Amino acid sequence: MKNANESKSYTIVIKLGSSSLVDEKTKEPKLAIMSLIVETVVKLRRMGHKVIIVSSGGIAVGLRTMRLDKRPKHLAEVQAIAAIGQGRLIGRWDLLFSQFDQRIAQILLTRNDILDWTQYKNAQNTINELLNMGVVPIVNENDTLSVREIKFGDNDTLSAITSALIRADYLFLLTDVDCLYTDNPRTNPDAMPILVVPDLSKGLPGVNTTGGSGSDVGTGGMETKLVAADLATNAGVHTLIMKSDTPANIGKIVEYMQTLGLDDENKIRKAYDGDLTQLQKRELEKLKALNVPLHTKFIANDNKHHLKNREFWILHGLVSKGAIVIDQGAYAALTRKNKAGLLPAGVIDVQGTFHELECVDIKVGKKLPDGTLDPNLPLQTVGKARCNYTSTELSKIKGLHSDQIEEELGYNDSEYVAHRENLAFPPR
Ligand code: GLU
Repeated sequence: MKNANESKSYTIVIKLGSSSLVDEKTKEPKLAIMSLIVETVVKLRRMGHKVIIVSSGGIAVGLRTMRLDKRPKHLAEVQAIAAIGQGRLIGRWDLLFSQFDQRIAQILLTRNDILDWTQYKNAQNTINELLNMGVVPIVNENDTLSVREIKFGDNDTLSAITSALIRADYLFLLTDVDCLYTDNPRTNPDAMPILVVPDLSKGLPGVNTTGGSGSDVGTGGMETKLVAADLATNAGVHTLIMKSDTPANIGKIVEYMQTLGLDDENKIRKAYDGDLTQLQKRELEKLKALNVPLHTKFIANDNKHHLKNREFWILHGLVSKGAIVIDQGAYAALTRKNKAGLLPAGVIDVQGTFHELECVDIKVGKKLPDGTLDPNLPLQTVGKARCNYTSTELSKIKGLHSDQIEEELGYNDSEYVAHRENLAFPPR
């Protein structure tokens, strides 16, 4: 986190699902909501904040344009529909923003675009440049070109990755409920609002999040929002869930967040210590007293514990092509404060087929006295790596000392299986 108290200028990502922008049945645009969002974004910009919108709706708008009731079954048709709709969608945003002389830019991403570190940095630089120019970037998945293997899948995930990419301060996930509840408030009148989640890695006791996709036009449900909140908070981005039909509340919530001293690590810990249920009650009273609208906030990992740029890229930008199994000793060395590189001696097994510098999962297992893997111990995935050797080479050099690599392979490209900067572990 930047020390936002000094400048009071935040980078804010606002994610809108298809059902917030397009009527689920008729697929006609919800122009009133879009206009309210535009007014809010313009206000936030005038207050000195930088704003990025992650907007779904390309496919829904395309369906309406082609007078189709349902999403076609064939991928090529969906991709064609997305191409038709995306143009109209961005045109709509442009028309509304131009009433306020606010410029926008379209950014369409696929996972492929960030698989390469230079390209990842490039996407980062471009979005930052747009923000510095005072432009509002509007991001969507490039549905016209992306196929399953290179898809982010849903825009909740895409918005979390975008927030991490630009090191945003806040990610607002706008949805059809005002906040997270302990159960579905439509069917359970006793469902309690969850207003603060101080540490999502500890879970949400008693919360029913299995509702799945809430609508016909979007792909996200509460589950994808939790995944997004996990990704974003791990990268140091406070994540908020709130209702999409009252976007002006974003400004009120940002103001409220400023009063919480979220940049002061000790203050956050103290404020959110203790019983989680009591905490929700206290927070509800506070919101009522201050007239702050309901919302759920997931507090970001502090500076010491959030993932740095490159670690985030390895863990969430890259797709694993296989796995290496390491022993407990190697795992301890890789995760200590001054983390080491991974040596072949620590590798006990190799799974799948991968090329040099492709990404693999790191699993921890137990080595039996004969050097093989203990088949009775379930393997635990603990992180990811980009290896200097292929799966075939690694199978030959696993368990060896680095000075034996040349003897075994006939060459020694590196004494390490993976360098420090190519290893990443989620915060613990
Ligand atoms: N990218 C999709 C679209 O524009 C939406 C995906 C989502 O809502 O999660 O239609």
